[in-house]
Order: sequence, then structure tokens, then C-alpha cells
Amino acid sequence: MVRDVVIIGSGPAGYTAAVYTGRAQLNPMVFAGANSGGQLMLTTDVENYPGFPEGIMGPELMESFRKQAERFGAEIHYEDVIEVDFSSRPYKIKSTAQEVEANTVIISTGASAKMLGLESESRLMGHGVSTCATCDGFFFRGQEIAVVGGGDSAMEEAVFLTKFADKVTVIHRRGELRASKIMQQKAFDNPKVEFMWHSAITEVLEEDGKVSRVEVENLESGDRSTLPLTGVFVAIGHTPNTSLFEGQLDLHDNGYIKTHEVTRTSVEGVFACGDVQDFTYRQAITAAGSGCAAAIDAERWLEHHES
Ligand code: NAP
Repeated sequence: MVRDVVIIGSGPAGYTAAVYTGRAQLNPMVFAGANSGGQLMLTTDVENYPGFPEGIMGPELMESFRKQAERFGAEIHYEDVIEVDFSSRPYKIKSTAQEVEANTVIISTGASAKMLGLESESRLMGHGVSTCATCDGFFFRGQEIAVVGGGDSAMEEAVFLTKFADKVTVIHRRGELRASKIMQQKAFDNPKVEFMWHSAITEVLEEDGKVSRVEVENLESGDRSTLPLTGVFVAIGHTPNTSLFEGQLDLHDNGYIKTHEVTRTSVEGVFACGDVQDFTYRQAITAAGSGCAAAIDAERWLEHHES
């Protein structure tokens, strides 16, 4: 049996595409992955997703997305896709457990924030450690926090976070920034932003399950110091989850999927939505919006290509 729609990925984009294609009676099959739910599974409170005036926990929000998709007939498989073949229609999608064919494919595999790789950093994710200033900055009103990284994202987040925090220390591994001059200047000009050069966090320490300080090593002298703070924003870049699609779809130089007319990829009938094709906004709500667009694009494409 050839499926009308197969969706790869289960963050806000993938599940929204599933809700819409489900309601369009296309019986979507979703490969949710072994770790389903996307980046919101790594957050605690989500206060900027419209419709939840009191906020909602990230995993709870994703559970609701999943249930809503299932209500409209989405068939969800918690398997990773390991291979795709978009060279001819119907397209082939192979997971760890099965191989299916589909007339259209919606890709919503997201992007992963790069992490420092410390055990304490992953344990305290959502409890003081964050990869999203827009999402979590609000929780750090009147506090002292750090941003790790020296690129545009780190400068943007540092300046943004001064709206809430009393002091933001940028911890960067080199003595100069990678960020564009204009972003550097904005950070240098902000009296609440301080810099720790040639420095790396070696441990995130906690008190009562929340970040209370970090241990920092000076990479030139080897000296270690402890910095009291309650938040660590890791802003060292993102990696789009596109290795499956290399050689099959056109990708930008930075690895994200190229889309045109909103969600169309370089292959007819293959659509991409959410963070896997968006390196600008990266929000749950924009991902969900583009998941809706991909579903409508896929539905219309099927209407015009009925055999
Ligand atoms: P990026 O430009 O790749 O910068 C990553 C930063 O993190 C670098 O300073 C890098 O240090 C540091 N880093 C990487 N791995 C690290 C590690 N393991 N430990 C400690 N530090 C580490 O990434 P980005 O800032 O996310 O920007 C990505 C792209 O989006 C860029 O093209 C950027 O211009 C663009 N962007 C633009 C804007 C804007 O214009 N408003 C805003 C955000 C992003 P080194 O410098 O030593 O390599």
C-alpha cells in the first residue's frame, strides 16, 4: 500500500502537519523517532505558546499535540527513519522496523542545539540551563546569568537577556568574537553584559536541583574559578537533523533544507517544515505554523497529482 503522506519527525511541526493531514483524511503515518517530541521535551515551562495563559510544561504540550494528531487518525510509530529514497515516486522511507512507500513526504526532523557535552549541563537542562533565550529569559528576572558562545546567537541572546537579568556574563573560549561587528558592538555597549575571555565552563553546579554556580577554566592559564549565577544559556550553534537527506534534497551551506514557496523542497511532493528548514525564528509556534503550511501544500499537491 502506498501512503498518501508520511511525516518524518514529531516536534510541533510534525504533529501539526499530522493534525492537518489527518483532518484532510489522508491517514498520515508519522515516524516520531525513538526520542519523540522534539526540543520542547528538553524544556520545562513554555510561556510563549499562545493559548496557555498560565504556561505549560514542554513535554505536556507535546503530549497534547500527539493526542490531537491521533484523534484525527495519525498513525504514530516510535521508530527512527534510517534511509529515504526520493529518486522516484512513490518515495521510499525505511525505518528501524519497516519500509513504506508514500506519494508525499513531510520532513520535520528539526535541529538540535549544540551542547558543551557536560553531564551536569544535560541534567540541569530546563532547571537553569537553557538553549533558548526567547523561551526562557523571562524566568531570570533580576538574576545573574551566563551565555556561552561568541557568535551572533550568543550576542543576540546576551543583549536580549539583559531585559530580564541584572548581569549577563558571556563566557567565550577565545579572545575574540565570531559575531558580526554590529552584534559585537551592541553587546560591548550594553552595561549589563560582561565578558570572560579564553574561558570554558567545566562544571555546572546546583543547589536544590537548580543551577547555583559554574566552574570556569581559563584556557590560557589553566586557572579555575567559580562564578555564582542561576542561569546558563548555551548558544554555540545548532545542527539541523538532515544527514538522512544529503544527496537527496538541496540543502543550504549550513545544512538546513532549502525550501521555496514556503515548504516545497527541491523534490516534487517532498515538503519540509519547522526547524529543519528554519534557522531564523526557531520557535515552537513558527514550527507549528509551518507544519500547517506543509500539510496544506501536501494536500494540494496530491489533489493535482492524482493518478
Ligand atoms: P556560530 O556562528 O557557529 O558561533 C558559534 C559560537 O560558539 C562560536 O563563537 C564558537 O566559538 C562557539 N562554540 C562552538 N562550539 C563550542 C564549544 N564546544 N564550546 C564553546 N564554544 C563553542 O553559531 P551562531 O552564533 O548560532 O550563528 C549561526 C549562524 O546564524 C551564523 O551565520 C550567524 O551569523 C547567524 N545568526 C545571525 C543573527 C543575526 O544576524 N541577528 C543572529 C543569530 C545567528 P569559536 O568562535 O571559537 O569557534
